Amino acid sequence: MQEILIGRDGGTQTLKVTVNGKSTTLGAVPMSVSREHCKVVRQDDGTAVITNLNSRNVTYVNGQAVVSHEVTADDVVELGGDRYRLDLSMLKLARKVDVSHLQKIWEDYTSWEEHTRISNIRSTALKSVTGLFSMAALIITFGDFGMEVETMRTLRLVLYTLAGVSIIWTSLNMFVTAPRRVRKAREREERFVDEYVCPACKRPFGKSYRYEKLLQLGECPMCKAKFRY
Ligand SMILES: [Zn+2]
Repeated sequence: MQEILIGRDGGTQTLKVTVNGKSTTLGAVPMSVSREHCKVVRQDDGTAVITNLNSRNVTYVNGQAVVSHEVTADDVVELGGDRYRLDLSMLKLARKVDVSHLQKIWEDYTSWEEHTRISNIRSTALKSVTGLFSMAALIITFGDFGMEVETMRTLRLVLYTLAGVSIIWTSLNMFVTAPRRVRKAREREERFVDEYVCPACKRPFGKSYRYEKLLQLGECPMCKAKFRY
């Protein structure tokens, strides 16, 4: 834990930041920033609370005057009547990012994945059925099952037609549909990787971090940004 005092240095009229009793002065500040204006208590994980130190001061967080308020790197902190904007980068605060939009991205992706798996199973099943037609046609051609010549001829014609159609279908699938499906699947995977990213550090979470797991974590496993949802 760290306590950071923020105010105006009376001599130089610059911003004075005191951490554990050690002060540094930064750029010029208006007189409306008090000598001891506010205090930031920062935890080791980067979460922090800002407290206005004197009722005559005003400390704003995102435009709202606050007495004591949680503050993250993504907030706007202003001090005093002239609304001096405090540079928060020196405080090394955790970021807090909205991740609610990732729920839809995750759900869309998983339902697409499921759909793809089902259609793959279907297409495998269909392939084995067409294989059976070809085999039956072959057996009818060479076998004699004591059937009427006319019946044999009709049956053969039907089976040959079915086998022919299935060969055309399989070839089309092999040379036209399959490559297109593989490409589409790759594009879909890439889109997921591009979209399912941490809003703070932009690094992809990937499939191992399903949305519910991210909510459980409450923060980005890579940059430790806190999640808001
Ligand atoms: Zn991150």
